[in-house]
Amino acid sequence: MAKVLGLKCRECGREYPIEPIHVCEFCFGPLEVKYDYDYIKENISRKKIEEGPKSLWRYIDLLPVEEPRVGYSAGFTPLRKAENLGKILGLDNLYIKDDSVNHPTLSFKDRVVSVAISKAIEFGFDTTACASTGNLANSVASHSAQARLNCFVFIPANLESQKIYGSLVFAPTVVAVEGTYDDVNRLCSEIANELNWAFVNINIRPFYAEGSKTLAFEVVEQLGWRAPDAVVAPAASGSLVTKIWKGLKEMVKVGLIEDMKTRVYGAQALGCSPIAQAWKEGRDFIKPVRPNTIAKSIAIGNPADGVYALQVTKESNGDWETATDEEIIEGIKLLAETEGIFTETAGGTTIAVLKKLAQRGAFRRDEVVVAYITGNGYKTMEVLDNHLRSTIHIKPTLADFKEKILAHV
Ligand SMILES: *Cc1c(COP(=O)(O)O)cnc(C)c1O
Ligand SMILES: [Zn+2]
Repeated sequence: MAKVLGLKCRECGREYPIEPIHVCEFCFGPLEVKYDYDYIKENISRKKIEEGPKSLWRYIDLLPVEEPRVGYSAGFTPLRKAENLGKILGLDNLYIKDDSVNHPTLSFKDRVVSVAISKAIEFGFDTTACASTGNLANSVASHSAQARLNCFVFIPANLESQKIYGSLVFAPTVVAVEGTYDDVNRLCSEIANELNWAFVNINIRPFYAEGSKTLAFEVVEQLGWRAPDAVVAPAASGSLVTKIWKGLKEMVKVGLIEDMKTRVYGAQALGCSPIAQAWKEGRDFIKPVRPNTIAKSIAIGNPADGVYALQVTKESNGDWETATDEEIIEGIKLLAETEGIFTETAGGTTIAVLKKLAQRGAFRRDEVVVAYITGNGYKTMEVLDNHLRSTIHIKPTLADFKEKILAHV
């Protein structure tokens, strides 16, 4: 693969061949895919991308796999101009990148998993696994079913029931661990050391993480080959935020756009905000927390890429903001009522944070601002119990309709 040079330690720079490994043997730093950007620049063009498949695979020149093996229709989700929400927030050019309709499992995780499992198949694995807050498990289970691979997903036992069914339906082994996501992840790291399984977010993590870059690539293309002025994205492990920035920088490196001055804003739920807290306190290290929030999909108390996510907001002149559980519900409702998009708690966090940032003047009115909606509300419906209008029951008669409904509108 001429486009990929190898893996490189983010801390000490030591290089490794392309293998299912994720930490540096010398300093325990995380490994990252290293590309030959000169080679890619020669071989990539706007035209070639525009003529490619209507999926994230139109960006295969900047992904670490030979060819797609699963997830043929993941990515290339709508970028919608949000006129109504923009009016309320005082933003003339607000856009929603809508991964709530990503294929096939309705979250941005279908991007990272398409890349990770394609790579796992290239490596010759016959078993996939993951530690998940819900969406990753859904996506790994789905793609493994499609590829006829054995699959084990590990989740915290207290997940939303819709997310558990969303894995079980694909018939993997679902292991519900009595503990937090961070407990699940630690257990999975131990298992990954003993068994020859493709843990997509552990030993395959360097390849998995690259899939998130496509959320940057697509937005730039969909804006007419122009980088936004600001983006707002939720953070769990901090990988998504980190890779949106990497993707934007790569587009400049390979000549797809001339320049980029995008500010990256990170969103966390107040009940699990170790990255935002580090930022507020001016720390460059993360103090792990014990999650306590309804935003379970982004409830990671010890975020693997937290430090790098902090560097991104620093380098890009961005910021971090948090939302309470109450504000997250309001965010879900605000997006639904203004734009007709039903997102889950992570998207509610993004909208709540977008609103706070707009209110405190983080954006100029005419700036192009993109909010990343990363998951679908039909998967976390139970959080809306007692937060919505009630249905109005009537008898099947015109008189009852007039009395109970028309008399009140
Ligand atoms: C996993 C997830 C995220 C954040 O992912 P990280 O890359 O770990 O920061 C955001 N939104 C949703 C809906 C997710 O499932
Ligand atoms: Zn190292």
